[in-house]
Formats: sequence, structure tokens, C-alpha cells
Amino acid sequence: MPIPQTQTPFEVRGACPHDCPDSCSLITTVEDGRAVQVRGNPEHPHTAGVLCAKVARYPERTHHPERLLYPLRRIGPKGSGQFERVSWDQALSDIATRLQAIAARDPQAILPYSYAGTMGLVQGESMDRRFFHRLGASRLDRTICASAGAAALEATLGGKLGMKVEHFAESRLILLWGTNSVGSNLHFWRHAQEAKRRGAKLVCIDPRRSETADKCHEHLALLPGTDAALAYALMHELIVHDWLDHDYLERYTLGWPQLRERALQWPPERAAQHCGLPVEQILALAQDIGRCFEQREAVAIRLNYGMQRTRGGGNAVRAVACLPALIGAWRQRAGGLLLSSSGNFPVRRDQLQRPDLLAASGVSSPRLINMSTIGADLLRTASPEFGPAIEALLVYNSNPVAVAPQSGQVVAGFAREDLFTVVLEQFQTDTADYADYLLPATTQLEHWDIHTSYGHTDVLLNRPAIAPLGEAKSNSQIFRELAARLGFDDPCFAQDDESLCRQAFGDAVDWELLTQQGYFSLPLPDAPFAEGGFPTPSGKCECFSAALAAQGLDGLPQVLPNHEPWGSSAAYPLAMISPPARNFLNSTFVNVRSLRDIEGEPRLEIHPDDAAARGIEDGSLVCVFNDRGRYHCQADVSHRARPGVVNGLGIWWRKLGHNGTNVNELTHQQLTDLGRAPAFYDCLVQVSLLRPDDS
Ligand code: SF4
Repeated sequence: MPIPQTQTPFEVRGACPHDCPDSCSLITTVEDGRAVQVRGNPEHPHTAGVLCAKVARYPERTHHPERLLYPLRRIGPKGSGQFERVSWDQALSDIATRLQAIAARDPQAILPYSYAGTMGLVQGESMDRRFFHRLGASRLDRTICASAGAAALEATLGGKLGMKVEHFAESRLILLWGTNSVGSNLHFWRHAQEAKRRGAKLVCIDPRRSETADKCHEHLALLPGTDAALAYALMHELIVHDWLDHDYLERYTLGWPQLRERALQWPPERAAQHCGLPVEQILALAQDIGRCFEQREAVAIRLNYGMQRTRGGGNAVRAVACLPALIGAWRQRAGGLLLSSSGNFPVRRDQLQRPDLLAASGVSSPRLINMSTIGADLLRTASPEFGPAIEALLVYNSNPVAVAPQSGQVVAGFAREDLFTVVLEQFQTDTADYADYLLPATTQLEHWDIHTSYGHTDVLLNRPAIAPLGEAKSNSQIFRELAARLGFDDPCFAQDDESLCRQAFGDAVDWELLTQQGYFSLPLPDAPFAEGGFPTPSGKCECFSAALAAQGLDGLPQVLPNHEPWGSSAAYPLAMISPPARNFLNSTFVNVRSLRDIEGEPRLEIHPDDAAARGIEDGSLVCVFNDRGRYHCQADVSHRARPGVVNGLGIWWRKLGHNGTNVNELTHQQLTDLGRAPAFYDCLVQVSLLRPDDS
């Protein structure tokens, strides 16, 4: 429901729903029932009136001529994208009947598939979860983006916690590690720039010479998957020069003697060879850290999720997360590390998601299916280890056919004629093409929601600005109506979205202030670990994790080789990473014409030496391939790629690419060391000029 406004134009406060750490506060201007402008809220300190170019185009996306406006039922072969319009009543009744029949055999044959297409707690983690709990459906292990880093932080610092983003402005040395902040963390970049103006040094650590690297003082273009070795080499230098806060290490860390011993096995020369870096760069960075330590200046690390997308990504995050403790960086509010702030939010998830409803389903502990191996799992038959084959899939807030790894298998799974697939979507994505029922979902401008953030520490409220377009319904409403058709009569299924927003935090958030401002800042200390107080089992920064050791893992951070180590294959000599194209956010916005026009074509950045060796010129059409598939795109011969590594910018919709594929045609489904996440950036390929007979 839109808020009651009688005069136009009027403005409505909301929140950006996208998978981005910045969680901006939005102001939408509405005129005659249409959103005509979306801008950043100037009163929200983190947004400061600025949005990225993507969301500044939200009216174009919302009122896009290709918005799905009516329920659709498949009439062509699977994947053909051919549908006919049906009524909501027809669609929901048939879906309910089909699900009921499957559930009667085994509800675990039904699988939800969702992620951060919207990050709202109401449209992504409330009525939907209640529905699947009551049904007894399989649970989804939501690993596709952040779980390796999350598990690493949990084991080391005790949770997804760290510095407040605004304090980076006061840091003297900032390591931007595995992050292209200019492209994907704009509002952090504002603080980094402020620090730079005040004399701070900025060092970017990233295989790609990103737009962020361009603007930093130094760039360490290490090989993908070698971050832990670099972290250990830095520790080595801090140890041999005694740039160590012995008091902090003694009082607030666990396992320092063992970590020290391991770090001494990584002299910079060894790490330089492992990481593909000049040793001088490692020595210089260690000296910068040491100088700050001696002068009591704050050293801060902004990690992002790029570095954890390799086999050893979890351990790499652990190694980096130990670094601040060595120099006592946490003592200052402008020192320490930030990967994610989401652990600060006191979300009442049990109340939103109601896992207690499982009791009525007859399934006490449904199996867990990893979303990162959906391709393989859709092709599995029933077995005692796996359980029933997946018979029904309900997809919302996600586009797995485009974004899940090893898309050849994903497509084969979705193409199964016996798989019943329901997709809730705003547009006819690659995944939507495979739906049996395609249900039109509202955008953020058309529904209520409430948001946390993983880049700052404010709660944001999203009010609907306009009425749902066409016959679109919110995710929560669709699951509410499905629940009614399945006879789920617990009163929780009647709860409306506004009261779900209120319930999400209860008294921990001042509702009046939240509705008035559009945001609410959590009261949190400025330097959370200045005197230890880590929420780990020991209360210390756990360089050694007994919890990991108890699982049979190494209790110390490990340097693990990639699944597909660079240099291990003559057939596939190039390592490929697939960072986001600047104008897309995962696979969102690819269909927004003005943004796609800026991106131009699917592109592969390749170093001039690697290009020359293959006869590839800037702008050539190339085939990127390995044993898993072939991907056609345009070569961008550029120093953005380091020698031996190519950057396949993602994530294009397959059907908008050259040969109906995207970069995930090449990635695999092997998982990370911690967190069971996909190792997207741990992928070997070869590149050749596209020949006329290439398919
Ligand atoms: S995508 Fe990120 S930067 Fe852009 S508006 Fe949303 S939260 Fe802000």
C-alpha cells in the first residue's frame, strides 16, 4: 500500500534494497502515481545525499516497459521463456495443489532458492521463511556471496563486527584489500578520500588494477588466492622488526605464540614468489605499517568479499583479521578492520522466521542444500545420503541461472521437465525463462521493508512510495496467500508488512525516530575491541581457534593452494576472476538500457602481453574456455589485468551475451575452506581469438 498522500508531487523515504554495503537512505519523488526521481537522503550521514549511478536510475528500472505485471504460466518448452497470462487465483491455486502433492510424499523435495536480490528483512527473511518452515521444505544454505568471510570473522573476532566505517576518515594508513570501493562501496570511499586529503596513505591489494587501485598510492596486484601468504609475510616483518604491541597480544589474543611461529615461515621473499609480487612491495607495505605503529598512527583495513572467493578464502580472511591485533590497531577507533558490520544488528530472526513452525510440518530437521551447488544438486537422484530428488523449486530475490557457478549444470538442472519451478520476479531474467509459473513481484518503491547494513550500523525503513504496478504483489504477500491456500492457519501468516517491520527489532529500535528520519543509528562503542572484549569463546582475538580445531581443521590460519592453482595447467594457463562490472550489481540492472549502454558488451580484461601472445587486439571478440564451457566476449586489452590473470566482468544475463552464456559458464562448484562458499575467483581458463566456427 502506498502511504496516503493526496497532493503530488510528494516525497517518500525508503532504503536501497540491493546487495551493497552502503545501504543508502532514499528519497523518492512521486508525481501522479509515478516515481519520477530517486535521490540520496542528504540527512542520512552515511548516504549524504549521494547514490550510485545504478540506483539513481531507479525510476527507469521501476517503470521499465519490460516489468512483469501479471502472473504467467509456461506454454513453451522449459527455458523457452514462452508464457501465457493467468489470473492470480489460477496461478496460486495450481501452485498450492502441486506443492501439496509433493509435500504429501516428502516436503523436503521442495526447495526455496533466494538471496540478496532484495536485502530487506520483510521481503527476504520473514513470511517466506515461515511458509517453508511450516511446509517442512528443505533448507537453503545461503552461501553464494559472503559465508567464507563470515565464518572466518566468526572464528577470529567472534562475529561480523569491526570498525565503524566513518572512522576510516581518521586513519593514517588504509589497506583496501579485495575491494573495488569506487565501484561497489562508494560511501566508504568518501571516507578513504577524506583520509587521503588529511595525509593518509592508501594501499590497494587486488589482482585487478581497479578504479580504486588507480586512486590509491600503491597497488599490490597479487595472484588470486594468495592473500594469506601476503598477510603472513607482513606479520613476519612486524615480528622481525618488533613492530608489535606485546601488551595487546598478551592480554587480548589467543594463540599468538603459534601464529608467530607460523608467520616466521613466510619471509617476504617466499611470499613474493607465491603471490607473484615484487618483494620490495611487501617490504614497503610492512614498513608503512611499522612506521604507523611507531608513531601511534591508526592503521585500518577495509576488506571486501573479493579475497574470499578462492579455496583458501576463509583462511585468508582469518590471517588478515589477525593483523590488527599484532600492532594493537584496535586500540584506536580509526584502527582495526571492517569486512562486515552486520553482526551488530539485534534482528529478532526467530520471530520473523518462526522456525518453531517446523513442529507442525512433521519434519523436525530438514536437510540443508547448498545454494552454491544447485547445478549439481538439481541433477541428483534420490538416495539415502541426499534424500529425495528436488521436485519443486521456488525462486525469489535471486537469478541462479545467471549467478550460480558452473552454469552448464545449472541450466541442465533447471531444464528438467519434471522439475516444478516457480519464480517471483520483477523482470524476465535468465532464471524466469525456466519457470512453470512466473509471478510478478513488486520493487522496493512498492512495498514496506526494513533493512540492516553490512557497511554501516544504521537500521533503515522502507515505505512504499507508489502502488504496486499492474498486478504485482510483494514476496511477503505471495507467501501469505500461498500459506492460506495450503491451509496454514497460524495467526503469524496474517501479519501485515508494516507490523513485520516493527517486529524485526522490537524495542531495540526507536520506531518513532525510525519512521520520522528513515533511519536509526544503533548505539555502539567507537572502538569496540580497544580492550579486547571480542565475542569469541575466549573473549580474545582468536589467532588459534579451538572451535575450528575441534572440527578437524587447522586452528591457525592456513595458506591453502587454489583448487585450480595458477601455473598447474598447460591447457589453461590463465587465472580468471569475475568481479562485477561497474554498472551492474550482480545480475541486477543488466536489463536497464542506459546502464547496459554504458557497459557496452560483455568484456574480458587481458594484459597486453597475454593478448599479444594470442594475437588478440583491443576490441577483438574472444572465446574464453575451459573443460566446463565456452564464453564469448570482447577483449579489453588493458593493464587493469595483471600478467597471467584475466578479469571477466560480470554478471551479464546469459541471453544478453554473445553466445547465450556468461562468465559463470567457466566457474566450478568446488567450495571454500570455511563457510561452504563458491570459489568463483579460483578458476583457470584459456583465451583465444573467436573463430567463425566457434560455438
Ligand atoms: S547500490 Fe549501494 S551505493 Fe547504490 S544506492 Fe544502493 S546502497 Fe547506495
